Amino acid sequence: MDFERARLTPDGQVEIPMGPNGEMIGSVHLKHAMDGVPPEYHPKVVQMIGNKIAQYLRIKGWKERVETFQKDLDAAIKVDLGQFRRRENSPHKISCQKGCSYCCYMNIAIFKEEARLLASKIKKKKIKFNRKEYEYQVGKGMNTPEDYWNDPRPCIFLDTKTRSCNIYDDRPATCRKYFVVNKPSLCKIEAGSSDKVASPPMINSEILYTAFSHATESVDCGPMPMMIKAELEK
Ligand code: SF4
Ligand code: SF4
Repeated sequence: MDFERARLTPDGQVEIPMGPNGEMIGSVHLKHAMDGVPPEYHPKVVQMIGNKIAQYLRIKGWKERVETFQKDLDAAIKVDLGQFRRRENSPHKISCQKGCSYCCYMNIAIFKEEARLLASKIKKKKIKFNRKEYEYQVGKGMNTPEDYWNDPRPCIFLDTKTRSCNIYDDRPATCRKYFVVNKPSLCKIEAGSSDKVASPPMINSEILYTAFSHATESVDCGPMPMMIKAELEK
């Protein structure tokens, strides 16, 4: 793979030549994170993504690769949130805290390797999940964000009594890097107010997310219950 040819498009997408014949494959993951990043830094960002992809691909085992990514991501999130909090004159504060879970009723996309890790822990009974919800969502074939807007369902790992995550240390990257500065009630999927949901810039986290998405076995990402089903049935 030719990371030298990776480039950032004017609308903030990273294109990396990873197709079988070196075609460019677009990724939208940096679109929002790049807002406000001066263009002169864009080549540097692309270079960082390329370096990380190469580093992840050098890791042979899928488990080690995804665990390394999770560790990297936690460190990057600390940097991003630290930078956001230190930013002078920022009127916004992060609203997210334990016991707040409106965001756990929507389509959560996870990578194949994350699903494999969760499925292996389910099989070893190291983690429990809401089987009734799992069967409902899988049975309905819930596959798109629209499916969850029309029928909001709790995540299969959400403890609906305490409104906390049962797999906090193992939660997927989508959940790890998601923070908002708006009122929590605006995160309610029924509020239909996704345009009022505002996230802080998470540039370091998005660099890693984009890199990992290009370094997984199949660039395969999908809704959590369906992805876990595929792994549980192997
Ligand atoms: S994203 Fe919204 S619902 Fe989720 S923890 Fe943050 S404020 Fe609460
Ligand atoms: S994995 Fe945890 S944080 Fe993510 S949606 Fe499910 S309950 Fe919420």
